[in-house]
Amino acid sequence: MKIISYGAAGQVTGSCHFIEIAGTKFLLDCGLFQGPTKVDLQNLSPLGFDPKEIDFVLLSHAHLDHCGRLPLLVKGGFMGPIYTTPATRDLAQLILADSASIQEKSETPLYTVEDVEKTMTLFSPLPHKEILRKGKLEISFHYAGHLLGASWIKIKTPDTCFAFSGDLGRYNSPFYHDPEPLGDDVELLLLESTNANKHVPSIQQGLEDLYAEIRQAYLEQRTVLLPAFSIGRTEEVISGLSKLAFLKKDDLFRKIPFYVDSSLAHAGLKVFHEHTDLHTMDPRDLQSDNLHFIATEQSYALDKSTEPKVLLSASGMMEGGHILHHAASYLPQASTLLLFVGYQGEETLGRRILEGEKSVLIGKSPVEVNAEIKEIKGLSGHADHEDLMAFLATASQLQRVILLHGEAQNMTVFEELLSASLRIRKAQHGVDVLENWNET
Ligand SMILES: [Zn+2]
Repeated sequence: MKIISYGAAGQVTGSCHFIEIAGTKFLLDCGLFQGPTKVDLQNLSPLGFDPKEIDFVLLSHAHLDHCGRLPLLVKGGFMGPIYTTPATRDLAQLILADSASIQEKSETPLYTVEDVEKTMTLFSPLPHKEILRKGKLEISFHYAGHLLGASWIKIKTPDTCFAFSGDLGRYNSPFYHDPEPLGDDVELLLLESTNANKHVPSIQQGLEDLYAEIRQAYLEQRTVLLPAFSIGRTEEVISGLSKLAFLKKDDLFRKIPFYVDSSLAHAGLKVFHEHTDLHTMDPRDLQSDNLHFIATEQSYALDKSTEPKVLLSASGMMEGGHILHHAASYLPQASTLLLFVGYQGEETLGRRILEGEKSVLIGKSPVEVNAEIKEIKGLSGHADHEDLMAFLATASQLQRVILLHGEAQNMTVFEELLSASLRIRKAQHGVDVLENWNET
């Protein structure tokens, strides 16, 4: 057996892991590298293996950093099935089509809308917990609690049983079911470690903090900029705040105009309404009179508006999307409140603003940052230290853990802690992590 990472090894993007078991070759995810230019450039590098030799793909969830290189794989000659849950298939269709339309406008497009259409014909939906038999392998998808349809994946071989966490969500989330237990057969785990060294407040606390900030900003007649993933984070923020306003009988909060500037978010909302068994949000909280999904042509007009409001737009790390022109207009204004509600990757525009840069380049134009900048910590969609420890505790036979999807400094501390009771390795790009790893 071989496990070789071609992404998300020592970094939090580009999830793609090549597995070979007795001649069967498959991938866990095939995600896009997302971030600043030098990270984006990794997408232009060869995949690291021959796509024609890959028998199938197992896709954990629909975020672009997990599915965004699938069309490249297909362009390279991959013809096999892409197994994932029905909800992930539905979301991936929207996210990949959006990605292709962005790619088609870039100087070095990786793929086209046609490539995505061809890719979607290879998707083969597999409901949660159903067992798929591929030769001598038994494969099943289990709730990961990170996004609609998101799963950790169990693979049983004749010799062992291993699991891939994908991105793991939080326990006690108001949005999704808890991650399912790993059980009594998983011996080896490929584990994401984005927040492995962090102690993050509860999501409920994050929502209360966000609610209080927005309410106060409205009373002060300010504009709140909220960069967020179009799909998932938008639904979570809207439903969480709407529920709080309902419970608090807060008529003032329900008057605050929320503008969602993302056609992708609007399309994604429909998928959340179609898969209500996979999330714990009340569908009534996903629609309200003060919620406005705006079309692209209205987007620039909002930059001139002085009414107090919340403007929610992608991308979550401010590396593209409509949030950029809103930021160019609103960041110079001291009355603006920029609220980060998600993880900001290394060297992204979001991270640099969060770390205090007072002048940033947006496109080719310098923009002064006079806005107030705050971070709401509880809303991360990734398991924190306690969540990861709780997840690990659900595996009674676990012996070995491979750490993926984490920045180097986060993983070292976590690695040392786990190594007291488990055997730990960190994935390295292009290296078989199992090589010379004594199994006794
Ligand atoms: Zn994710």
